[in-house]
Amino acid sequence: MPMDYVYPEYEVVRNLSRCINCRVCEQQCANQVHAFDPKTGQMTADDAKCVNCHRCVAMCPTHALKIVKSDHAFKENGNWSAQTITEVYRQASSGGVLLSSMGNPKQYPVYWDKLLINASQVTNPSIDPLREPMETKTFLGKKRVSIKRDAQGNITPNLPPQLELSMPMLFSAMSYGSISYNAHASLARAAQQLGIYYNTGEGGLHEDFYQYGKNTIVQVASGRFGVHKDYLEAGAAIEIKMGQGAKPGIGGHLPGAKIVGDISKTRMIPEGSDAISPAPHHDIYSIEDLRQLVYSLKEATEYQKPVIVKIAAVHNVAAIASGIARSGADIIAIDGFRGGTGAAPTRIRDNVGIPIELALAAVDARLREEGIRDEVSIIAGGSIRSSSDIVKAIALGADAVYIGTAALLALGCHLCRSCHGGKCNWGIATQRPELVKRLDPDVGAQRLVHLLSAWNNEIKEMMGGMGINSIEALRGNRLMLRGVGLTDKELEILGVLHAGE
Ligand code: SF4
Ligand code: SF4
Repeated sequence: MPMDYVYPEYEVVRNLSRCINCRVCEQQCANQVHAFDPKTGQMTADDAKCVNCHRCVAMCPTHALKIVKSDHAFKENGNWSAQTITEVYRQASSGGVLLSSMGNPKQYPVYWDKLLINASQVTNPSIDPLREPMETKTFLGKKRVSIKRDAQGNITPNLPPQLELSMPMLFSAMSYGSISYNAHASLARAAQQLGIYYNTGEGGLHEDFYQYGKNTIVQVASGRFGVHKDYLEAGAAIEIKMGQGAKPGIGGHLPGAKIVGDISKTRMIPEGSDAISPAPHHDIYSIEDLRQLVYSLKEATEYQKPVIVKIAAVHNVAAIASGIARSGADIIAIDGFRGGTGAAPTRIRDNVGIPIELALAAVDARLREEGIRDEVSIIAGGSIRSSSDIVKAIALGADAVYIGTAALLALGCHLCRSCHGGKCNWGIATQRPELVKRLDPDVGAQRLVHLLSAWNNEIKEMMGGMGINSIEALRGNRLMLRGVGLTDKELEILGVLHAGE
């Protein structure tokens, strides 16, 4: 028995009166938790291998299974939680950096839940979105304030390239490699059907997905994987990834074992070689350097595509955003510290960065103060969980939001937080063909369309309740928000009044 043996985190509970020994759970579990014991004629389970992904629970035809959190008692106290103790054991055993998947799970304040939305009463009538026009169409890009006219006095169009969204939502960057071909296909098809955009992440664009180019944002990250002229031209916009909310200041690493077949081809790196994105872009050490890349990308695409610069929400995010707005970028994407990831060092994910709510409010206020808010649009991301989070984000200054984890949940993710293992039983964060095929891209796309359409209808209802009939009128309208249980400093940064004021 190893020195650091600890009782498994989860227990598989099998109701033997219901189990028919069909072995479906055994076939469905890539973690090899279940097995049939011919001696006893019964199924057995190795609890230590269970990641609590619910695949067996969902597939069991007789509802014989449930997974419970082990109630095995650690000698915990206020300082040493069971998780902290277990992590010390793991590192003492492996000598390695702890890795995690999905967003920061720690109990930091969730400001969305401390903000309340206004509703009209009596003097300012509400609007019924079923009977009156309600506009959720959104345009992202620079909005020039000057109007030019030709010799006849007609207005000459001089608006820089814009992204047109039927609703104020886009799918977050998720690379082919970190998620499966079928997950990518689901996002691409849904974006096309909804009239919005999905994002390649830093993995390049598989040739099969060029057909969705009008609904694709192509990303240029520090590793420059899969970046070439056709790739840049294929997308509707180009995103320079400077940072990611789940791992600010950290690059990316897709192990060589996952660089096989189409993934190697799409990333343009040899099979079996690690895909390491450096922490910084090695040609960017100032806003002037960033400006050079922004204009290089614009030049390469004949000034036809908006350029997005994505940053992680960190302490000086407002100053960074001000520089980005002056770099010539058209859109700033801010990723909060609860944003998801396929893999990140646990300590970075859980301790670095700031909440998106505070970062977004600070950036919007700074750009307004400097008179450059219309130079850029703002996309906010990193734990947008519902339509009410979106309404609050827009009222805090966002033009639109990135949806990541919620999109994966719609595809079947059960938040087991084991993506880095590459054995996602739901066919999402895996490249194993037998697992990938479990996700039908048509079904996946349909579920994404359902989710975002439902959210869009809810946004219309909430806007109608406020007596507002367009996203434009809601953007930065902090009078529509009130805080509860917040300190004066938090209210000051958010720029909202306390409930009752
Ligand atoms: S899937 Fe359900 S019924 Fe079939 S062997 Fe597993 S527990 Fe038993
Ligand atoms: S994508 Fe798959 S592996 Fe990752 S958290 Fe969701 S269910 Fe688990």
